Amino acid sequence: MTSEHTHVEIWPAAIMGVAASTIPYAEHNQSPRNTYQAAMAKQALGLYAANFQIRADTRAHLLHYIEKPLVQTRALEVLGYNDRAAGQNTIVAVMSFTGYNIEDAIIVNKSSIERGYARSTFFRLYVTEERRYPGGLSDRIEKPDVNVEGSKPPEMYRKLDADGIISPEVEVKGGEVLIGKTSPPRFMEEYRDYGTVSIRRRDTSVTMRHGEKGVVDTVVITENIDGFKLVKVRVRDQRIPELGDKLASRHGQKGVIGLLVPQYDMPFTEDGIVPDIIVNPHAFPSRMTLGQLFETIAGKYASIYARYVDGTPAAKDDLNEIKIKLLKAGYSPDGTELVYDGRTGEMLHAPILIGVVYYEKLHHMVADKIHARPRGPVQILTRQPTEGRAREGGLRFGEMERDCLIGHGAAMLLRERILESSDKYVMYVCEECSHISWFDRNKRRYICPIHGDKAKIAAVTVPYAFKLLLQELASMCVMPRIKLAPKYSWKPT
Ligand SMILES: [Zn+2]
Repeated sequence: MTSEHTHVEIWPAAIMGVAASTIPYAEHNQSPRNTYQAAMAKQALGLYAANFQIRADTRAHLLHYIEKPLVQTRALEVLGYNDRAAGQNTIVAVMSFTGYNIEDAIIVNKSSIERGYARSTFFRLYVTEERRYPGGLSDRIEKPDVNVEGSKPPEMYRKLDADGIISPEVEVKGGEVLIGKTSPPRFMEEYRDYGTVSIRRRDTSVTMRHGEKGVVDTVVITENIDGFKLVKVRVRDQRIPELGDKLASRHGQKGVIGLLVPQYDMPFTEDGIVPDIIVNPHAFPSRMTLGQLFETIAGKYASIYARYVDGTPAAKDDLNEIKIKLLKAGYSPDGTELVYDGRTGEMLHAPILIGVVYYEKLHHMVADKIHARPRGPVQILTRQPTEGRAREGGLRFGEMERDCLIGHGAAMLLRERILESSDKYVMYVCEECSHISWFDRNKRRYICPIHGDKAKIAAVTVPYAFKLLLQELASMCVMPRIKLAPKYSWKPT
């Protein structure tokens, strides 16, 4: 509103919304690609807040060398994107090169990464407080001694100071204690043997997340609103791009790093320009993201003439003029150039599209996902391995994988995966009535629910989850039975 107006018309380009407004040349893309990009823009790392150093976010990613996009849209300025950007202007060549960019993978210049390309930092905050409980008992932030209940191996506490809190700039990894803490026993009257009252405290230390590593960044000791001592420890982890990390342009063209090539082996133009990224040409025909090809040309012009280009949909700078300017600067108007293979020095016998495209680093990083385990924790209920990386879980050998082994007739391997290395259990069955039986420790006898201790009992190996199923059926008034075949009864037909 101004002094001359009471109402103003909505700016037409605003119909696209915040995320889609960051896409240059959006009207040249196939529509689903703009939809994908609108979802992907939210996963891009950037400078999310200028005061990140003094903030206490539970998790945060920060891209180190953010750049203002050379190919702009008018919305970017309005959104404040140019002040807190989320990407870098990247020299992109469209070619196969080694083939390590097949199926949406991308080849990245290793030297660019060493100079800081797509580098980011991950922060995580660990918090705890010293609570007071009724009865004069309270938590204590301290280095727990060995006879505290549930204490961890001594090397886990090694990096703590005398006050039980870790210092800044200490390297830490998964499982190590950041803040040592003990709490009073859960139940006050916990009598031990010989009638003495137990005052054994519990270990409630804050440990580094499993599978993560980093350097202690900040330690804050303060008080909370109730006057309890409050400790916050922030851990930082530098993330240098590696194989499998995800990058994307602003056109729904995402891909993971498939190969890192040193600069001296990368292709180069007559001017000696070496790309940061090589994308596979097969990424374009079926997806029809012409916007990215236009951005390549416009970005190239922008960097040659040191000027920003407006790529706002339906209101942009004239691309034909840009092409003419490229021609005047001695470049091909379609953005292609002759390139030489860095490994052999030979000229490639095809013109290669090379230009500047704004690339985003997405927060899906291998460091957060890589996982394997040998043996490890199991669930209490089913005795099968736990699920998920955070719980040090196993890798599921699912139904389709099972079908493969059945198809191959690899029965022994199937049994090994699904029984022996999973939830193997020995169950007792009455040979006469087939009911589930058990071993009574006090009587030192096997007991059948029908025949009592007179029964003949057989030991049967089953998955624990199966035994659980039988007991759940029993709890619903269904009595399942295990019918035993006589041993070695199988005869060839
Ligand atoms: Zn029986």
